[in-house]
Amino acid sequence: MKLTMLGTGLDDIHEIFITHKHTDHLLGIVWVVRVVCQQMMKGKYDGILNVYGHDEVLNLLRDMAGKLLWEKEFAFIGDRILLHEVTDGQCAEIIGHKTTFFDVCSKKAKQFGFSMEIRENEKLVCCGDEPLHDTVMNYAENAKWLLHEAFCLYSERDIHKPYEKHHSTVKDACELAETLGVQNLILYHTEDDTIADRKNLYTREGKAYYHGNLFVPDDLEKIDL
Ligand SMILES: [Zn+2]
Repeated sequence: MKLTMLGTGLDDIHEIFITHKHTDHLLGIVWVVRVVCQQMMKGKYDGILNVYGHDEVLNLLRDMAGKLLWEKEFAFIGDRILLHEVTDGQCAEIIGHKTTFFDVCSKKAKQFGFSMEIRENEKLVCCGDEPLHDTVMNYAENAKWLLHEAFCLYSERDIHKPYEKHHSTVKDACELAETLGVQNLILYHTEDDTIADRKNLYTREGKAYYHGNLFVPDDLEKIDL
């Protein structure tokens, strides 16, 4: 199994999960859906595209697609592009793996994460884009892989002000992963000012607090799970 931060051809993407309605998480999906519709019309996309999300995000996606896509494109929605509404605690089988969706208890906008069993007793957990809430810690305990946001370095918290935006620093995310017994931590959803040296800077700070494998992926980077 591979986890891809972009870089894969859209024809290879058949499962999409949308966490919440913020523009940096939702608007790109409209474009992806449009390109998949076009590929379907050209006979260049095989099978189905499944999109998972809670009621709020799927209603917005359906509404935007209805207003923005051509009629011929929109006709694929409900036919070969299936929108699956999920509720807190609901399970689904995705690419052969049991996946449980959960409400991350966001203060910003209704937001879900998920836990996927990638192998027996090995789970991949996505926490969305804010610090994992106390009430859902159980989903991430002893995770094989944890995807957690880290908006900036702890040493730069006064510059980027992560706490005002309900975000974590590298140190915070790493301390949490250490406490939860996570084996592999993937940090994402970061500020862009340090992008040129982000991998080194974030890894250096994180390693002081976390002893598992720490990943700070660049765009297009692939990770073997
Ligand atoms: Zn975000």
